[in-house]
Amino acid sequence: MGSIPEEFGSLVFDDRVMRAKLSAKVYASLKKTIDEGKELDLNVANAVAGAMKDWAIANGATHYTHWFQPLTGVTAEKHDSFISPAPDGGVILEFSGKELIKGEPDASSFPSGGLRATFEARGYTAWDPTSYAFIKGKTLCIPTAFCSYGGEALDKKTPLLRSMEALNVQALRILRLFGNDAVKCVRTSVGPEQEYFLVDKEMYNKRPDLVYTGRTLFGAKPPKGQEMDDHYFGVIKPRVAAYMEELNEELWKLGILAKTEHNEVAPAQHELAPIYSTTNIATDHNQLTMEIMQKVAARHGLVCLLHEKPFAGVNGSGKHNNWSIATDGGVNLLSPGETPHENAQFLLFLCAVIKAVDEYQDLLRISVATAGNDHRLGANEAPPAVVSVFLGDELNAILEAIERDVSYGGTAKTTMKLGVDVLPKFPRDTTDRNRTSPFAFTGNKFEFRMLGSSNSIACANIMLNAAVAESLKQFADTLEAAPDFSSVLHATIRKTIKDHKRIIFNGNGYDDAWIKEATEQRGLCNYRTTPDCVPHLLDEKNVRMLTSHKVFSEAELKSRYEITLENYCKTVTIEANTMVDMVKKQILPAIGSYVKELSATATAKLALDSDMPCGFERNTVKRLSALADGIAVHTAELENVLLKLRSADEIGEEANGIRDELLPAMGRLRLSCDEAESLTAAKYWPFPTYGELLFGVR
Ligand code: ADP
Ligand code: MG
Repeated sequence: MGSIPEEFGSLVFDDRVMRAKLSAKVYASLKKTIDEGKELDLNVANAVAGAMKDWAIANGATHYTHWFQPLTGVTAEKHDSFISPAPDGGVILEFSGKELIKGEPDASSFPSGGLRATFEARGYTAWDPTSYAFIKGKTLCIPTAFCSYGGEALDKKTPLLRSMEALNVQALRILRLFGNDAVKCVRTSVGPEQEYFLVDKEMYNKRPDLVYTGRTLFGAKPPKGQEMDDHYFGVIKPRVAAYMEELNEELWKLGILAKTEHNEVAPAQHELAPIYSTTNIATDHNQLTMEIMQKVAARHGLVCLLHEKPFAGVNGSGKHNNWSIATDGGVNLLSPGETPHENAQFLLFLCAVIKAVDEYQDLLRISVATAGNDHRLGANEAPPAVVSVFLGDELNAILEAIERDVSYGGTAKTTMKLGVDVLPKFPRDTTDRNRTSPFAFTGNKFEFRMLGSSNSIACANIMLNAAVAESLKQFADTLEAAPDFSSVLHATIRKTIKDHKRIIFNGNGYDDAWIKEATEQRGLCNYRTTPDCVPHLLDEKNVRMLTSHKVFSEAELKSRYEITLENYCKTVTIEANTMVDMVKKQILPAIGSYVKELSATATAKLALDSDMPCGFERNTVKRLSALADGIAVHTAELENVLLKLRSADEIGEEANGIRDELLPAMGRLRLSCDEAESLTAAKYWPFPTYGELLFGVR
């Protein structure tokens, strides 16, 4: 690799390349499209496509693809080469504006939750010029949105862009009220911290559960787990360091601002954080990051596990979504200002977020709902399934003072007046940063911590942007009609604090007492599982809010409800089938072999001397035999449940059955198998152990 500034973004058709390769006119017109969402005319598109093709070919590309994010959770691409036949029997390399703007992948096997049945069979992809094209391998990748011919979104990018626009529209209304006329647009920014595990590839290959499901379905507790806390921020092992180095280089070439890396709490667990960028780009980059993480791992004889809970009894992996709102001039609207005027504006935006999180806590929970993430949320680790907001003592005291109409800190005689009094400076990143809160204010941004490590960050940000847009809309409606701006502003802020303070919690989010208080006294939602929360996507208030801001249509919401539950059902069913397979083909035979060896040993000993003590062999054979019988019974139970669930009439019913019957049956089977593992000689056990997986990469 050359120098970092030289290599950074070398595989990206970014602004530097555009400026160099496009005529001034074409560049200016493309810039308008990127910055202001102006429609692109075909002549400009043709010119851009030509320049993109030449640049891509010069950088080794032979193919192009419309790169998109279907509802499966991964990214999709179908490669077309640039070749086109020439009359002389040869080929020329072509790429037209039309091909750049629109693609028609055969979409029939992407999930649509019934949407395509009611509209057109095929979908199309449309270029998103706000996210730069890039080269991956030998392919020019063009970030696109994916829709049905009826215009219904079949992907995650489309509603994300719509939610960003919704927030932009409403935030601008507020800014105008504060006299900020120069601001052209408001965007949300995100810096997603990504957790992951690295395991040895050879060991991974020996575990069908990891191969098929991304998580271990069996595994006795190792002698050492994470109890020593000696891994967090510990020295990075050479093999991991080499991996991180190459990963960074690959990401930098793609223009991804990979910045921070460290070991996480669990052994073999690590984290990568980029510098934040516009939500849309951060989302594309996070998808790419996850892909490159896995690719680079393979080159190092490693496998990168992005599953939320690869190992029972060891911390799972999440993704922290650091989120803020900023103007095109770079002013962070969640940053407390220098003047009373700016402070009042800050407090209004802050209140918009508090109100949004309280009113749409269910949508935030739904946005992170997957079978994998259910193992973290509500399981005494990571954030709980209850959504609450952490503000820190200082900011909390300020809001309390406003609510009670007293002075902050209780020293001054007068009450605090917004727009007159200066807020005290509260230190950013104060040391008591609460790591147990699902939604924490960290000085100039909010950190939403409920995302699972494999989630696309699109889902959470769609809901967050939309909910905040709704708060801002209500504020703007009131304030625009206000006869006296200052007093109505003050009243609005006070009322918001009063109405929504139940969502603010600055204590320990893992505490059982909190869950009790949250649900029983404060009436907050506690949806522990995916089937518990997803049906609320279709609650009237949620449909009303999301459709009124044009983030989703009602049909799209229904389809997303279906797809989310379908994914949940498929995921857990595959896990259950994998367990059955592993038990029958590997675990029971392994127990049998060891039992046979022990029996033979005992027989041989007794032949030598009939008084020879054989207690160990006898007891172990006895316990293992009982366990083997139990395992067989549990497996049959599991198969019965699987059979029964196949005849469920409706996806909600199937998902509930999985939650209530299948997962508990899987738990029982695992328990017996894990005990058998702890009793069986290592050479008979067919899979690498937890200890080997967690401590095997050095
Ligand atoms: P920690 O692990 O202490 O939470 P990190 O430094 O690992 O902190 O991650 C913080 C993340 O927040 C980084 O991705 C950073 O770029 C991002 N971030 C910082 N400021 C903002 C902001 N204004 N808006 C969005 N994200 C931000
Ligand atoms: Mg963090």
